Amino acid sequence: MMIRVGILIWVLILTISGAPAEQTFYKGNTHAHSLWSDGNDFLEMVVDYYHRHDYDFVAVSDHDILARDRRWMAESAIHARQTGSGPSAIEKCVARFGPDWITWETVGGKTGVVLKTLAEVRAQFESPGEFLILEAQEISDQSNTGPVHINALNLARLVPTKDDTTRPAVEVMRELLQAVIAQEKTTGRPILTHLNHPNFQWAITAEDLATVTEERFFEVYNGHPSINHLGDETRPGNEVIWDIANTLRLTKLDSDPLFGVATDDSHHYHGGNVSPGRGWIQVAATELTPEALITAMRAGDFYASTGVELHHFSYDPETRILDFSIKSDGDTRFRSELIGTRRGYDKVDGTARIGEVFAFSSDRHVRFSVPVDALYARVTITATSPHPNPSFDFQTKQAWLQPVGWR
Ligand SMILES: [Zn+2]
Ligand SMILES: [Zn+2]
Repeated sequence: MMIRVGILIWVLILTISGAPAEQTFYKGNTHAHSLWSDGNDFLEMVVDYYHRHDYDFVAVSDHDILARDRRWMAESAIHARQTGSGPSAIEKCVARFGPDWITWETVGGKTGVVLKTLAEVRAQFESPGEFLILEAQEISDQSNTGPVHINALNLARLVPTKDDTTRPAVEVMRELLQAVIAQEKTTGRPILTHLNHPNFQWAITAEDLATVTEERFFEVYNGHPSINHLGDETRPGNEVIWDIANTLRLTKLDSDPLFGVATDDSHHYHGGNVSPGRGWIQVAATELTPEALITAMRAGDFYASTGVELHHFSYDPETRILDFSIKSDGDTRFRSELIGTRRGYDKVDGTARIGEVFAFSSDRHVRFSVPVDALYARVTITATSPHPNPSFDFQTKQAWLQPVGWR
């Protein structure tokens, strides 16, 4: 009875203190590859991975191809992609969908498989309100500093690339994004883009990312181990890039800050080091449709995660209170940091700087007060528990909330 009374009082306190009910989030990965480009598993097996692992949506974003037309692939080419030991991609696909699923065809004397289209895979997996597949392209272009990769979700047709290695990254980014915006206007469908892995081959700087204000999203985390997530001795990692770009946008470019997504960029599904399940987003959308997901993301109603999960988050622009609660995870402890840049950060001596830590907390229910002179503030939550499938040394589980306090 004592315990019951205790619980009742606790519930009452929570209610009085205004802790909102559990928020509904849709979990998704917006960056993955299949045999349609350079991944090593069938599109349906990639989707099956996310479906089995309780994701609500996935975008398989192959390089510059949509899984619409007939595509044949030699059995030997499929085997050549295999990573790790164990059953082959074909054996696993037969085990999952049965022997009649695979369409064998011999072309020029070579045995091969006709790959399933997105429409066929959708028919197998999609269910309203339960599971959604977003059609996507990883627009994979070149610049004079390296690759410019932008994911476009829910697009109507392929965005063409030029692969011209003489043009600056900013120019390439802007042209690709303007092509997407034009497509959005002519088709009337929302298309969400995110700039991928800026530090991959050190192609895109924070200043580049700030300058191209057509882009509202970038990958603050990408699970590919080769994307220089943490930067190096002379170049900033993804989080610092985020703060530099946001500060430039809000002080010099009269533009909105960037929102950060976490993605897998998975290529390997049979062992191998570019594997799925490392990074995702949780979107507080009203329903599981492309339109609702994109609307919520554009409003900043989502967070990025590599393992830290939230019950809820909210921001009140009147009181400048950012309130969130973290789901428990065994005996894991959490450190939440409120990070941002103050107005006039470059004019005063002392602690004010780009990406200052305004406050921190070790609680699971956190209320941060965003400083009145902050240009913006965002939250990074870092857990003590290791990431189960790390993409860099000593990686622990994290989550990133979107910038607030800037409107
Ligand atoms: Zn890429
Ligand atoms: Zn990719």
